[in-house]
Amino acid sequence: MEAKQLQSLKNNNALLCQFIVKLSAFYEGFSDKIDTELKVLRGHLSGTPNFSLAAVSIEKLNNSLQHQEKTLRKYSADTLSSLEDAMKHLQKYVFEDDELKGLATQELIKLNQPPGDIFSIYKLYAKALAIHRIAFNKKMVGGAPTESIEGAPTKNDDATDRSLKDENPHYRSILVELNQLITSYAQKKPNDQQLNDIKQRLDEGMSEDQLLKSCVVILRMIVQDAMSEASLTGKVIQSLHRSLSKVNSDVSHTIEGSQAQFEQRQAGNEQLKRHISHIEEAVSESDSLESLKEQTQFCVEKLVTTLSEQQSNDQQGQDALMSMLSSMQSRIERLQQQTSVYKKKLAEQAMQSRTDPLTRLPNRQAYNEKLEAAYANFKSKGDSLAVAVVDIDHFKSINDRFGHAAGDKTLQVVSKFLKQSLSEDDFIARWGGEEFVMLLSESEMAEVDKKLNKVRTKLAEMPFKFKKEKVKVTASFGATCFSKDDNTETVFERADEYLYKAKRNGRNLVVTDLSTD
Ligand code: GH3
Ligand code: MG
Ligand code: MG
Repeated sequence: MEAKQLQSLKNNNALLCQFIVKLSAFYEGFSDKIDTELKVLRGHLSGTPNFSLAAVSIEKLNNSLQHQEKTLRKYSADTLSSLEDAMKHLQKYVFEDDELKGLATQELIKLNQPPGDIFSIYKLYAKALAIHRIAFNKKMVGGAPTESIEGAPTKNDDATDRSLKDENPHYRSILVELNQLITSYAQKKPNDQQLNDIKQRLDEGMSEDQLLKSCVVILRMIVQDAMSEASLTGKVIQSLHRSLSKVNSDVSHTIEGSQAQFEQRQAGNEQLKRHISHIEEAVSESDSLESLKEQTQFCVEKLVTTLSEQQSNDQQGQDALMSMLSSMQSRIERLQQQTSVYKKKLAEQAMQSRTDPLTRLPNRQAYNEKLEAAYANFKSKGDSLAVAVVDIDHFKSINDRFGHAAGDKTLQVVSKFLKQSLSEDDFIARWGGEEFVMLLSESEMAEVDKKLNKVRTKLAEMPFKFKKEKVKVTASFGATCFSKDDNTETVFERADEYLYKAKRNGRNLVVTDLSTD
């Protein structure tokens, strides 16, 4: 019995030793010190185990493991807190992006919960890296220098912006141009998926590579449009040509028909003449009343036949003429309809080419044409004319703080407001970017000054709100009247000079010929 018990104890011991050897081999690599101790322990427990030496080794290991556990806990807590810092930092940049904002918030919630095993920290790490990768791809953290990770977001925004401009100074202007083009095409093709995709990606921000690709897509669209316009023009001209040549051939047919009818009638008349002279001959040569009666009857019958043939020929000719005329009429009507549709299309095109697609205000080309006409009236009739140049103040900061789409919206609202503020005789156009130009009909500079100051004050009082933040939008104005020595350029230059004076003097100002420094 004792021998049996001893044997079973020995077996259990051997099993335990094997298990400890395997376990310690599995955890190898955790710490150099523990690895060495474990190696020693494995030596004591392998082969014929030496339990007293193993006990010493286990004692040492216990101390090391206790110390290591504390280090591991601290390490996990540090890792979690640095992950939390990184996510909070990221959150500041992605506040405009709903998807990333949501992901960052979820991750922060998980980071604040007590960690499970060590593998759950790996998972959190992987997730945080994935979120950063998405943000990086969206160019939201691309330009941020790593050493300023703790820095203020505004500082970092500048850095991102600067780095983009450093890479390619045309990046922003291409972005603006592309946005304008897309806005104009989106109105024409509201359901075009490709356009909508590009527009959305533009709002999210795109890499230079993507920007170039998008430019190519839009260019292709413009070329296709131009080609279809050209083929439309071609089609209308072809159809005009077809209709005109049909009318032409109808007319020549009618002329030919009339000619043939005329000849037929001539021949009929000749025949009639012949019949009448036959009657005359019969009357003069006839010796008996009976034969005269016979011959006269014969001739009269012939006369009647010829006359009725002529009548039916006339009728046929008239019918043919009538049907030809009515078909010509309907063809001409169709032609008129086609021409008026085409004219409308051309007028629409002419209108589009003079309209700014974003604000729907007349564009610079329209302004130049209007200015030429107004200047001619000023010269010939002495009509009064003033030019005002308007520039939104610190507009770039609206784009930078609230995004390009908010900037676009602001331009639309300000344009509508400016247009409504002017009278019917006045004219306003988008000069470009956030600048507008007005032609005013007031004869006195004091009136112009008063009018513009009213517009300026009202604009400054308008309630703009972006991302729940109230924003004041103001503009600076420069205005001048045409004098007899002026031409269109000198007047614009003077108005522009006044505008910059208004900017220098603090913005949200009107500077005119009346203003003194
Ligand atoms: P200032 O008061 O001196 O006029 O400052 P500002 O920021 O208004 O002027 P600046 O010339 O520095 O910036 C104008 C900005 O307007 C830069 C450009 O990106 C932006 N912009 C121009 N056209 C458009 C547009 O169509 N849409 C948007 N969203 N922004 C535009
Ligand atoms: Mg400007
Ligand atoms: Mg400006």
